[in-house]
Amino acid sequence: MYDTIVIGAGPAGMTAALYVARSNLKVALLEQGAPGGQMNNTADIENYPGYELISGPELSMKMYEPLEKFGVENIYGIVESITDKDGVKIIKTADQTYETKTVIVATGAKHRTLGVLGEATYASRGVSYCAVCDGAFFRGQDLLVVGGGDSAVEEALFLTRFANSVTIVHRRDELRAQKILQERAFANPKIRFIWDSVVREIKGNDIKVTEVEFENVKTKEISTQAFGGVFIYVGLDPVSSMVKDLGITDEAGWIETDNHMRTAVSGVYAVGDVRKKDLRQITTAVGDGATAGIAAYQDITSGF
Ligand code: FAD
Ligand code: NAP
Repeated sequence: MYDTIVIGAGPAGMTAALYVARSNLKVALLEQGAPGGQMNNTADIENYPGYELISGPELSMKMYEPLEKFGVENIYGIVESITDKDGVKIIKTADQTYETKTVIVATGAKHRTLGVLGEATYASRGVSYCAVCDGAFFRGQDLLVVGGGDSAVEEALFLTRFANSVTIVHRRDELRAQKILQERAFANPKIRFIWDSVVREIKGNDIKVTEVEFENVKTKEISTQAFGGVFIYVGLDPVSSMVKDLGITDEAGWIETDNHMRTAVSGVYAVGDVRKKDLRQITTAVGDGATAGIAAYQDITSGF
């Protein structure tokens, strides 16, 4: 019986495990891959305090190193389900079952992909899902943003700081984004729109993206335009299927918590990108992790 099992070794999970371990409780970190989560897919991180520039894998290792010192047990596995039986949390992977007093879910979110030709080929070579992370690398270029929600419009506005121009392509003729973001985008001289259109193919040379082919969904007209980068914001999906029986998510699968990261089920906490919140970044993931670690400690020592 563990005091706490943390599921997912991204920045949120690693921080949660550190805080529980520093409270001298028996804690395991259960992960399906290498520690670091989405940070492992990030070449340069420029917005984590304390580092002017650090690579994602290096920051991952720096977060991971102290865990061993404080006695965090590492378990490899893909969690399939978490259930609650009379207060004991049962965690099942394909071939193992674990029991714990508390569980911290830190399984992150996955950006949706468009699934068009060229998208995978040019990933990290002009195709990006994170303007905050990659925007500065596209200084002076003509960029395309795909999507019509808050993320697409907000990130298009952010990209105008670096880009020569930003084009938003949306599959309908009106945006889904909040009105205030729409107004800002319409008023920004660097932003223009392609309406009623979808991306058919992202094309490029041996090195990077050079142009994008569109289809107008109303007229069926095909057109091609030159772009130096394509930022895709067609929504995020939470990685939360393993908690579906606990009833702690909203309809879209985001886990709902209070300010202490407690969910509606006593002894179950959620942190980082999988949680219902506004800003999904490493800094906020780490803050969630610390908060949940302390909440779990307080709940265990006070007997819930
Ligand atoms: P994640 O990092 O997603 O980690 C979740 C972990 O859970 C993963 O390791 C996964 O393998 C594991 N997991 C999932 N399901 C299971 C399961 N069933 N069983 C076992 N393990 C499981 N943020 C910044 O602040 N600065 C940046 O520069 C920046 N750049 C980014 C660049 C890219 C390309 C991307 C994709 C994201 C970037 N972000 C950046 C966002 C940042 O990486 C995330 O906000 C952060 O990683 C979220 O941390 P997390 O711990 O909640 O989840
Ligand atoms: P979203 O609200 O789900 O919007 C996704 C957008 O992508 C929609 O415009 C959708 O078109 C479009 N889309 C989806 N699939 C597509 C496809 N296959 N091809 C082309 N277009 C496609 O996602 P999001 O913008 O990432 O926002 C996610 C959540 O975070 C939302 O709740 C949002 O409000 C919140 N958020 C809030 C803020 C803020 O408050 N400042 C900022 C960012 C995000 P349709 O409109 O036609 O469906």
